[in-house]
Amino acid sequence: MKVFNTLARKKEEFLPQGDEVKMYVCGVTPYDDAHLGHAMSYIIFDVIRRYLRYRGYRVKYVQNVTDIDDKIIDRANKRHISIKELAEIFTNSFKEDMNSLNIEPPDENPRATEVIPEIIEIVRGLIDKGYGYESQGSVYFRVRNVPDYGKLSHRSLDSMRAGSRIQSGEEKEDPMDFVLWKASKPGEPSWDSPWGPGRPGWHIECSAMSLKYLGNTLDIHGGGQDLVFPHHENEIAQSESFTGVKPFVRHWLHNGMVQLGGEKMSKSLGNLITIKQALQNYSVDAIRIFVLSSHYRSPLTYSEEILAAAEKGAERLRQTANNPVAGNKTGKRIDTEPYRERFSEAMDDDFNTAQAVAALFDLTRDINRYENEGFEAGEARETLKELGGVLGLSFQEREEAPLDATKFVELANFTYRELNRTDVPDDSLSAASTVDNLLLIRQELRKEKKWQLADMIRAKLDEAGITFEDTPQGTVWRRKR
Ligand SMILES: [Zn+2]
Repeated sequence: MKVFNTLARKKEEFLPQGDEVKMYVCGVTPYDDAHLGHAMSYIIFDVIRRYLRYRGYRVKYVQNVTDIDDKIIDRANKRHISIKELAEIFTNSFKEDMNSLNIEPPDENPRATEVIPEIIEIVRGLIDKGYGYESQGSVYFRVRNVPDYGKLSHRSLDSMRAGSRIQSGEEKEDPMDFVLWKASKPGEPSWDSPWGPGRPGWHIECSAMSLKYLGNTLDIHGGGQDLVFPHHENEIAQSESFTGVKPFVRHWLHNGMVQLGGEKMSKSLGNLITIKQALQNYSVDAIRIFVLSSHYRSPLTYSEEILAAAEKGAERLRQTANNPVAGNKTGKRIDTEPYRERFSEAMDDDFNTAQAVAALFDLTRDINRYENEGFEAGEARETLKELGGVLGLSFQEREEAPLDATKFVELANFTYRELNRTDVPDDSLSAASTVDNLLLIRQELRKEKKWQLADMIRAKLDEAGITFEDTPQGTVWRRKR
């Protein structure tokens, strides 16, 4: 199995330390709803985790929650709620999104505020070893003591220094030194420490948590490409300096960014699509197929056309996987081995999910083709579901939000009044029954040649997302996609 390592800048043989793969992926800062950029990253690492298990490894997967940070403090102040409440709201919202996307929860999901003692221990250790220094209640990391600083982002300390300067209020020895422990400002949440009240810097929490839950060396550390510098570069510096063990990480994996209209999807550019918005319009499988149809290290371009095509693909897979097995008329069966081989070969080559997805679509096409010719396709269907499961596909229909009954009751009331009917529509009926009633009224109106009112009902239902057809068996309605 070959895996591209950001540190080596090439594909390398995947060599974990043992049967249990130790995997760490940076989590979110819960101050707002997660967007498609998050969906991409966590879907990819979910698939990597599932595929490693399919290959026979056990996997221990740890992901953090940065529940103390400038953005959280700022947002909580604006909303006049506590930092704890704000972090709680968006941590739950994030978990809900991950669950909706069929992403398995981490084995350990610690919050930064739960590992303060471990963080203080590491900061103290770094000071003892000459890598950390205190300055006005804060503690900084001394980058010039790490000769290979910059090895992950492939930059030299001198070139980094050229573009940076010391911010006012920071008493640092070097502009590239970064904060391990931040002295708290008045009114900010703080924890006691040997350097006075303060809170941890962002980078140190990942070093503390990975060490606590996975040990000195991780097999896989993942995250978005935007985390390579400074976050992951600093994690390496902290962890290797503290433990004295190299490498901190055997395989560094970074995913590309989601693009919208030619730019990175990001909060600051205001071109975000949240996971909740995407799930209103597309099924989970469509979103996963969209993400997995390009290579994880490449940028992923979002457009409604691409998502619509992914939805069609998801529908094809879903129908084929769930169709009842046709009788075996020829005694022949579809050999699934070639599809399995293609799938594994693709995934073994740096998780080439685009090729793996293509193998599933070919299997789907062949199930339908050979079944028409009388082949037995039961085993092929099971293979489709099994390999689809490795990519986290659910083969389930989109869960639709329930119809809002009030809209239809209002319309029914209006129609009844227009018709001078005295039997008031029952507002305890479900939305679906109310739609049925409206369609019956429409039929009556048509019989009475009251075309205008009948057309109004059609237009109003259309507006509410209901489309229908008059058939010899009566009127059949469905929700529009
Ligand atoms: Zn991290």
